[in-house]
Amino acid sequence: MSLLLTTTNKSRIFLSPPHMSGKELKYIKGAFESNWIAPLGPNVDAFEKEIADYLGVNDAVAVSSGTAAIHLALSLLGVEKGDTVFCSSLTFVASANPILYQGAEPVFIDSEPDTWNMSPEALEKALMESELDRRLPKAVIVVNLYGQSAKMDEITSLCDDYGIPLIEDAAESLGSTYKGKASGSFGEMGIFSFNGNKIITTSGGGMLVSDNSEWMKKARFLATQARDPALHYQHSKLGYNYRLSNILAGVGRGQLEVLDERVEARRQIFNRYYEELAHLPGISFMPELMNTKSNRWLTAFTVDDSISGVSAKSILKNLTEENIEARPVWKPLHMQPLFEGCDNYPHRENENISESLFHQGICLPSGSSMSETELLRVINSVKNTLKIKV
Ligand SMILES: *Cc1c(COP(=O)(O)O)cnc(C)c1O
Repeated sequence: MSLLLTTTNKSRIFLSPPHMSGKELKYIKGAFESNWIAPLGPNVDAFEKEIADYLGVNDAVAVSSGTAAIHLALSLLGVEKGDTVFCSSLTFVASANPILYQGAEPVFIDSEPDTWNMSPEALEKALMESELDRRLPKAVIVVNLYGQSAKMDEITSLCDDYGIPLIEDAAESLGSTYKGKASGSFGEMGIFSFNGNKIITTSGGGMLVSDNSEWMKKARFLATQARDPALHYQHSKLGYNYRLSNILAGVGRGQLEVLDERVEARRQIFNRYYEELAHLPGISFMPELMNTKSNRWLTAFTVDDSISGVSAKSILKNLTEENIEARPVWKPLHMQPLFEGCDNYPHRENENISESLFHQGICLPSGSSMSETELLRVINSVKNTLKIKV
């Protein structure tokens, strides 16, 4: 038995477990009955069309992961050795790994405090300096953290000014909007993830979306081993095996039917945490920018220990001891050993927002299937650590 389990006999509360609707089964059954047990088929075609329609974009390509979708996007933009790609620093490593797959170099851009996402100020500075060095990036990857859209007006206008294509990493923000427009539909290309912990899941999977149908055609080609149109197997380009299984696309179709319910459930969970904890000294919840709607994939907050007298670390420790899965906010990529030596642009001189969010931030269990009893267990643990009478 693990040490963790010996400290409590309470059942585990996961950060963001899968939440099936039951509607997935009819699509899986269809795949079995028609024998489309392959990385293509009617569920794949329909899932692509349904996601494109949901977002209001021209086309979508279903792939085996969100990481694969980012890789295809970079490959389509011709990113190669010697190039640089700008990327949000406060994110999961998958946002930047494909830059390395292409042999290119990431440059990390800090967050700003209003959305916790890419700072337009830092981006502008990085673009200005790279233009002076005659080394403008091949692409910018902007992440919508925990469901919250970045400042898209500012970021798209900077990218337009410099003629740099924008890739929107919307892996965490399916179902969110910015000024009424779907998250993931702002860049030249957008990507989504259907990993087991995301707001909807296919167990593993992803989607590349764009209004540019030519690119999406090419993405399908690259994701299918770049097979030239010939009866014999002919290849003139390097390709990948990145397509999504027809069975898993069926899971995705069933999940997509309940996406809006899942968003509302996660927002409700955020509201409960907010009501119970937001007024406590030193606690600040992740903001929601005006005119945006976050899917609140994960509820996140910061603790200022100079006010609360208690650090984020001790809150996390107590949650863990009570068999509750909580996590610090992502460790910024510019602090990761993997990316040592890469350039990074702070929000302002001597003001690194992502670093302080990492030191002070906590993500709470936020699964759409969470019960009130589970919510109270989490809330009471946080309050107990803060020595607030519950
Ligand atoms: C989950 C995630 C990805 C990667 O998606 P996979 O489907 O796991 O490959 C990329 N970026 C962000 C921000 C993510 O949270």
